Amino acid sequence: MKKTIVLLTALIMLLTVPVIVSAGQTSYSLYVNGQKVKVDKSPKIIQKIPYLSKEDVSKQLGYKVEWEKNNRKMKVSHAKSFVQMQVVDQADAVTGTFEGLPFEADGTVYVPLKQLSDNFPMKVLWDRLSKSVYVYLSDGQASSPIFDPDPVGDPGVLVPDDLITGTVEVSQIQISGAKISIQTSKSTIVSHSELQDPNRIVLDFEDARLTGDLNSGKGGGELILDHTYIQKIRFAQNDADIVRVVFDMKKPASYQIQSVEAGKRTEISFSEKRYKIVLDAGHGGKDSGAVGLDGRYEKDFNLSVAKKIAALMEKEDQLEVVMTRKDDTFMELTARGEMANKVGADLFISIHGNNFSDSKISGIETYYWHRESFAFATLLHNNIVKASGLPDRNLRRNDWRVIKTAKMPGVLLELGYMSNAKDHALMWSEEYQNKVAKAITDGVKAYLNIK
Ligand SMILES: [Zn+2]
Repeated sequence: MKKTIVLLTALIMLLTVPVIVSAGQTSYSLYVNGQKVKVDKSPKIIQKIPYLSKEDVSKQLGYKVEWEKNNRKMKVSHAKSFVQMQVVDQADAVTGTFEGLPFEADGTVYVPLKQLSDNFPMKVLWDRLSKSVYVYLSDGQASSPIFDPDPVGDPGVLVPDDLITGTVEVSQIQISGAKISIQTSKSTIVSHSELQDPNRIVLDFEDARLTGDLNSGKGGGELILDHTYIQKIRFAQNDADIVRVVFDMKKPASYQIQSVEAGKRTEISFSEKRYKIVLDAGHGGKDSGAVGLDGRYEKDFNLSVAKKIAALMEKEDQLEVVMTRKDDTFMELTARGEMANKVGADLFISIHGNNFSDSKISGIETYYWHRESFAFATLLHNNIVKASGLPDRNLRRNDWRVIKTAKMPGVLLELGYMSNAKDHALMWSEEYQNKVAKAITDGVKAYLNIK
C-alpha cells in the first residue's frame, strides 16, 4: 500500500514538472473587474494556482497586506475578514511540497489568489493562452453574486461562463437587421472598447485565428454594409493570436455585447447614443450663495435655471439629465463632481450667479478647468453671452472644486451679477431664465452634434 502511494507521488511530480517550467517563465497580464491593470510584478502561475505579488494585492485589489519577515508570516485582510499564511521558499511552492502558500522570490512575496478567493468576495480566472489572470472583486457581501461579467461597458472584457482554453477560429460575420454576430469555433475572451475621431467600436477575440469566409489569405478584409449606425466592418489577424473586428461608425451609438450559444457566438447590437448630463444647481440648504440686492438668494436662482434646463433637455431623446439637487438641500462641493463621475456623465454643468463689491460690474463668465473642457466651454459661453445680451466677461480657467473633481468636460457658469441692479432684475425674470436655459441646451446639443 505504501509503495503505491510513493509511486503515485512520483508520477504526479513527473507529470507536473514540465508545466511548472513553462508557466513560471511566462509573463502574465492582470485584469481587475474587466480592466487591464499595470502590475509591479507579473503574476505567476505555479501548480495551476495564480499568484500575485504582495504589492499588487494591496495596490490592485485594495486588500491590507502585513508581512512579518522574521516569523515568515503573512496576513491579508479585507473588511472584517483576514487570512493568515506561512511564507515558504520558492522551491517548495514550485515542487508543490507546500501547495498554495505564499512564497518569497524576486525580492517580494507572492500571494496565492486561491487563498484570497476562498476567504474574500472575489473570483479568480486565469488563461494560459492569453496569458491573463482575471480577478473579479465585489465590494459587497460575500453572498452576492461575485462573477458577473457585465457585457456592457467601455472598455470591457466579455468572459464567457464556459471558457475553454485553446485557439478559436473566427469564421463568419453575420448581419441580421441591426444586430451583428460573429461566429467562433468555441468560446473565447472578447475585449471591447470605443474609440473617437473617427468613431469606432473595437472587438478583440483572444487566442483566435481567422478562418472560413473571413480568411482571404490577405490576413483580413472588410464588409461595407447598409446599416443605420455602421459604415463598414473591418476584420484582421491583428497579431499572431488576436483577431480584431472594427466597426467604423456612421455616427456615435450605444452598443450592447453578449455571448450566446455557449460562447460560440458574440452578438453586438446598437442603439441611439444617449448622453448623460449632470446639472448642478450651485449652493443649497444652509449655503445660500450670494445674496441679491433685494435679499433673494443665489441658491434659488441656480435651482430655478437648472430646472428649466432639465425640462428642455428631457424633451431630447438622446439626453438624460441627472441633477445634483432638485430642492433646497445642502451638498458638499466634492460630492457634486463625484456624483457626475459615479453616474458616468458625459458633460457636467454647474449653475451660479455672481457677486462683487463693485456694483457696476455686470456680465457673463464661464469657467473650465480640464483642458478637454475648452471646446465645450467656448461653445456654451458664446451661446450664453449672445442670448443674455449682457457683457462678455470672458471664458476663464480656474480650479473650482466642482469642475476639478468631475472628470468629464465640465463648466461652471456665472449667469450675471446679483450685485448689479440691471443683471439682478434680469436674472429673476422668467424670460431671462428661459433664454439662458435654451442657450445652454442648444450649446450642449451643438457640442454633441445632436440635430
Ligand atoms: Zn455661486
